[in-house]
Amino acid sequence: MNDCVFCKISQKKIPSKVVYEDDLSFAFEDINPQAPVHTLVIPKKHIPTVLDLKEGEDDHLIGHLFKIANKIAKERGIAERGFRLVTNCNPESGQTVYHIHLHVLGGRHMRWPPG
Ligand code: 5GP
Ligand code: ZN
Repeated sequence: MNDCVFCKISQKKIPSKVVYEDDLSFAFEDINPQAPVHTLVIPKKHIPTVLDLKEGEDDHLIGHLFKIANKIAKERGIAERGFRLVTNCNPESGQTVYHIHLHVLGGRHMRWPPG
């Protein structure tokens, strides 16, 4: 996707604080962190929302993103304390970037329900 900010970040056309990278995925620090740890995990493949995931084709990819989120939580020392994984979908959720991403949030007490 030519004008997708997260595609550009994963292709390093836009700079970011890179946390992790492999063939399928990319993780980087959120530019506007909402917690002491706020990292975004994205697929390199452009998928606008979770509604666009293809059954079968994207199953492995989604599992992979969770695996990377776990790895980041452990490395940041928030795994045992607790952390939150968030994926927003469409306007009422607050999704602003239409390239799926897992927010890895931690390092402070999280409230529920979310705002
Ligand atoms: P959403 O609102 O779609 O769930 O989350 C998008 C997230 O991407 C927001 O937390 C926002 O701060 C982050 N973000 C938006 N643009 C950029 C950017 O150019 N660089 C980085 N590192 N994060 C971004
Ligand atoms: Zn994209």
